[in-house]
Formats: sequence, structure tokens, C-alpha cells
Amino acid sequence: MSSPPAIRAGRLQDRLAAFAAIGATAKNGVNRQALTAGDRQARRLLAELGSARGFAVSQDAAANLFLRREGRDPSLPPLLLGSHLDTQPTGGRFDGALGVLAALEVLEALADAGVETPRAVEVVAWTNEEGSRFSPGCFGSRAFAAGRIDPAWENALSLDGERLGDELAATLAALTEAAMRPLGGTIAGYLELHIEQGPVLEREEIAVGAVTGIQGTRWLEIAIAGAAAHAGTTPSSFRRDPMVAAAASLHDLYGNVMPRDENARLTVGRLRAEPGSINAVPERVIFSVDIRHPDPARLDAIEAHVRRTCAHAAAAAGCRSEASILFDMPPLTFPDAMVALVEDAATRQGFSVRRMVSGAFHDALFVARVAPAAMIFVPCRDGISHNEAEDVEPRHAAAGAATLLECALAAA
Ligand SMILES: [Zn+2]
Repeated sequence: MSSPPAIRAGRLQDRLAAFAAIGATAKNGVNRQALTAGDRQARRLLAELGSARGFAVSQDAAANLFLRREGRDPSLPPLLLGSHLDTQPTGGRFDGALGVLAALEVLEALADAGVETPRAVEVVAWTNEEGSRFSPGCFGSRAFAAGRIDPAWENALSLDGERLGDELAATLAALTEAAMRPLGGTIAGYLELHIEQGPVLEREEIAVGAVTGIQGTRWLEIAIAGAAAHAGTTPSSFRRDPMVAAAASLHDLYGNVMPRDENARLTVGRLRAEPGSINAVPERVIFSVDIRHPDPARLDAIEAHVRRTCAHAAAAAGCRSEASILFDMPPLTFPDAMVALVEDAATRQGFSVRRMVSGAFHDALFVARVAPAAMIFVPCRDGISHNEAEDVEPRHAAAGAATLLECALAAA
């Protein structure tokens, strides 16, 4: 009897290094943004590695790229494993690439051991997960889940002035040897290995995170209107200063939202005063509030708290506050059977594992709309991601890939 399939950690490291070289930056990071020449080069390398092992290479209209290892019954829906190959402009070597290359490693480990799975197993590299060059992010997995490309997205323009539809066509044309397949389709399940992009696993010295869901995100814009006045001549009692209201609001929000709920996240990343004159009381102050929570009811409660706090602070300063929602992504919970699949797989492999919520979006959020999905997290150094300094220890990359293989064996 042949030996059971096993991850080859050295091969995985070689692959990570080969892909990190495409778009490498001077500071050891990667700039391989979606649908650029570098992205096309990475797609070509993945297709070549797949073809060399006899896996069928195909792509869909959203330029999602697939490698298929056939199962005993080709009529069964395939199990999908993957992530993305695009990066942030000053991105790291592991965000996305680890999940795609670990999925390839799983396919190769199955092929090395000559294991026949009942259903096909496919690797997928989703297009434009990051959304840094073209908005929105998770373009490929959204299109896959919807079975169509939103026509409005095709006209999205990048900062470098290119149209998404044109770059998509050029990317598809650059890989003509990949068979075209319909967008979407039935799949048995989806598993994505990804770096945690946070500090929890490293701090707790746990090898594997079994991701229970992805927290919801809501972006509010608060506009506080007061009255412009001369900075030198207007005494306090004559002012209706929206900056006073904004400062009081932020003081309350920072002091109450996160300190009272360890699962809540609140960030004010953008604030501007209008007209923005150094020597005038502003007429309006506008700021963003990014709130995140895994529980939809808490997301609503925090939004209500933000609105109330800003309204009170504005009234106290003689101003008016208005709140509008800029973006709303509800939380997602992965099916418990899929989370348990990851947990059990990690445990059988002898890795420490804990359940955790993902703080960031991932392609799995969208694929979960059409199939049971789950995610496997591995620690990254100091929780750093979307940064050239992003780093993952080889033993953690290997543990993640071994867990993915164990999951695939159980699910395929
Ligand atoms: Zn990612």
C-alpha cells in the first residue's frame, strides 16, 4: 500500500519564493496588483505548474483561474480550495498567495500519493481580492457567486487610468491556453487558507485558527454643521463650533465602544473641516466611523450609539449632526460542520487550534453564498499584513497546508 498523501514543506516554500519574486519590492514585499502585468505573470506561472502535473487549467469571464484534478466521478460537483494572487501596492508575500499555493500543494500531494478522490478537487485563484487598483475588492469571488459580472464594475477606472473591462480582457487573452469555463457553477464546498492578519494566534502560540465567521462592517459618515466664525474675534459663547462637537463625540466613542465590548471595532480614519481655514471656526466637520462586529444586533446597537452620541454632542455645541451609511456588509457565520471539519483536521494532524472570527473580508465571504465554506488561519509575525514586512514561519505555512490537505481528504 502506498503512503498517505503528505505536504512537502520545502516545495511549498520554493513556490512561495517563486511567486514573491513576481512584483518583488525593494523591502522584501510584493506589488502585484490585480490585472497588471505582474498579476498576469503570476497567473501564467500557476497555470504552468498545474499543466506540468496534468491538472486541467481553465478560467472564467472574471479571470478566476482554476486547476482541476479529476475525481472518480466527474459528474460530482468539485471541492474548491484557494485564495487570491493579487496584492496591495506595498503588500506582503503571503496574503493570498499562501492560500493558492497551499491549495496547489494539496493537489500535488494527492497526485504524489496516487490518491483517487470521489469528487474532483480544484484550486482557484480569485481575481482582484484586494480592491486596491479597482473597486470593489473580491471582484472574482463576487462574480462567481452571482454568476455574472456587474456591468457597472467593468467601467471602474484604476488610479493609473485603466478601465477594468479592458484590463480583464487583456488578462484573459494573456492565457489563451486556459480553457474558458462558465462563470459560477455548482461546487461541493470551498476552503481557504489565509494568514490571520492579526496578532491573536501568534500571541497565544496556536498553530491553526478555525474561522467561525467574518465580522460585519458598517461605514458611517457623520457631518456636523455649525457656523463659520473668525478665529480671533469670536468668543466661546458666540461660537457654534462643529469641531467642539466632533471632539466630544470621538472622546465618547473611543471611551465607550471598544472598552465595553471586546468584539467591537471602531475606527475614525478620515476627518476634515470645511472650509479648512487655519484661522476660522469651521462651518462643517465631516468624519467617517468604521464599525465592525460579528453580531448583527450589536452592529445595529453601536450604530445607534454613534448617532445618539454625535447628535447630543452637536446639540450641546449649538450644531446639527447628520449620519449616513456609506457601506454595509453584514456578518457571516460559516456552517458549524465546516468549522468542525477544520478543527478536527488540525487536531488529527497534532496542531493546536482555536475558533476565531475573521476581522477582515475574504473571498470566502462571497463563496459562502453559494456553497458551504470555511477558512483556516495561520499566524503571521506581529500580526502585520498589507505591509511589505508581512512574514509567516515555514512551519506555520506547512501546518496550514497540512490542515487544508486533511480537510480536502475528508470533504472530497
Ligand atoms: Zn488576502
